[in-house]
Amino acid sequence: MIIGIDLGTTNSLAAVFKDGEVKMIPNRLGEYLTPSVVSIDQSGTVLVGKTAKEYAYLHPLDSASVFKRSMGTNRVYDLGGRQFKAEELSSLVLRSLKEDAEHYLGCEVEEAIISVPAYFNDFQRKATKEAGELAGLKVSRIINEPTAAAIAHGIGNGTGDERCLVFDLGGGTFDVSILEFFDNVMEVHAVAGDNFLGGEDFTQALAVDFLEKAAIAPESLGLRTMSDVLKAAEAAKCSFSEQSEVTLSVNVDGESVSRTYTLAEYEEICKPLLERLRKPIERSIRDANIKIEDIDRIILVGGATRLPIVKTFVVKLFKRFLGALVDPDMAVAQGAAIQCAMKERDEEIKEVVLTDVCPFTLGTEVTVYNGLFDEAGHYLPIIERNTIIPVSRRQTVYTAHDNQSRVDVKILQGESRIAENNVLLGRLSVPVPPGPKGKEAIELVYTYDINSLLEVEVTVLSSGVKRRIIVQNEENKISEEEAEERFKKLEYLKQNPRDEEATKLQLLRGERLYEESSGELRERIDRAMMDFERVLSKQDRREIEKAREELAHFLDTIEYDIN
Ligand code: AMP
Repeated sequence: MIIGIDLGTTNSLAAVFKDGEVKMIPNRLGEYLTPSVVSIDQSGTVLVGKTAKEYAYLHPLDSASVFKRSMGTNRVYDLGGRQFKAEELSSLVLRSLKEDAEHYLGCEVEEAIISVPAYFNDFQRKATKEAGELAGLKVSRIINEPTAAAIAHGIGNGTGDERCLVFDLGGGTFDVSILEFFDNVMEVHAVAGDNFLGGEDFTQALAVDFLEKAAIAPESLGLRTMSDVLKAAEAAKCSFSEQSEVTLSVNVDGESVSRTYTLAEYEEICKPLLERLRKPIERSIRDANIKIEDIDRIILVGGATRLPIVKTFVVKLFKRFLGALVDPDMAVAQGAAIQCAMKERDEEIKEVVLTDVCPFTLGTEVTVYNGLFDEAGHYLPIIERNTIIPVSRRQTVYTAHDNQSRVDVKILQGESRIAENNVLLGRLSVPVPPGPKGKEAIELVYTYDINSLLEVEVTVLSSGVKRRIIVQNEENKISEEEAEERFKKLEYLKQNPRDEEATKLQLLRGERLYEESSGELRERIDRAMMDFERVLSKQDRREIEKAREELAHFLDTIEYDIN
């Protein structure tokens, strides 16, 4: 079985195309959104999702979140005395989604299509594939999030030719893409974005303002109180979807600090963030060589587009109403699932040929004559940013020195005019017959496929000598043994049994609420927890389930009282 996965910065989701329609897959707690959070508890057990999020509240140092931002880098996370790379943490989230899907579907899930921001570079895409493989999933395709969202909105499904802009503001990233659908072909025309702008920044802005107005220096707060402030800010931010005034209250050193914000005040606080949304939009429109009026439809994706101030910003900028047919949280996973069906050639879906764009320019380093002397270290773009892929481009270069015996071709990715400022993806060296400079012509062929794999072929035209490489990043390249070892390390990590997850979640909630409350309320929580632990010790499943439901209900009322 194959499923579609939206591996998000804040939350991850899975969906499947079954019986002619898309179905969202609930996780072990019966919810569609699984927070992309991983913790390792004191017993060395891995917690994923909502349980990890609760655990993170009490043990921030043994928990990790927002690791999607570090995919494909060498950043190491220290959790419970073990070290993890971002792709390993992602693989734990994927493994949890895989298990949930298997439970829901009643069959094994071996394959997945995983979405990534259109702006992800080669390393990040490869790291995502690797995360899937570490989770025991064959990643048959990586799909760009906006492409998936557009598919979920029915674009490319018999609705006629259309040009749309996908505005995706998630927890940690912002992506803008312009897609065009015509003659049964979906084309991604331009992508732009900000990898460091998302809903969390809108939470942060409110938290910072709250502390500033209360004359509290953030440095003076402990990790826990800071986490309380952020939690209150997050809740307040989300309340703006329903009300135009929200109150933030936090207990700081035993004293309750509170402040009420109107939507207008909040909009003012977020002005710099809203301004930052403008740039990638303008750039994508410029890159696609169109005008704002040429866009037929605006598609909002990502949890943070629920924010009224973001919606107002979009309406003002584009001067039009927004049609919201698909839940902004679900669209990407649904699109990925539809793509699975396309892959399997399911009859229900009209086949659409998808084309994506290459998000960065790919090129090589050359020496150029600047009018006075030959200057080395220049960048020569070969495949320009936003070129529709798959694509193959040829470029001829010449020897730069007299009697040069080899040509060293650097394969670069980036936008800088100076070669060394761009990312070195790989290199190829070919022998050339010695002679005067400029005599030998060398042909470079860059081919970029839809899975973001880059093939480079170098041919010395006079001798016919050829070299070829499929680009792999040296820094991130791992040997088969190393991959095996990493896989084992993850495989042997104990994971919480599915059935115990709900119990663990309520126990952690109880602990947190105990810490957040005081006096008589505390005593009541303590008694409820002890009662529940007594039932747990009896190990009777049915009794545990009943007691757990009662405890959850009781904790809900406490949570309501506190907030
Ligand atoms: P995503 O990465 O798409 O799951 O988006 C997560 C972001 O959406 C987080 O920053 C959430 O705080 C934000 N979010 C979710 N629901 C709402 C809401 N009702 N109002 C404002 N922001 C929201």
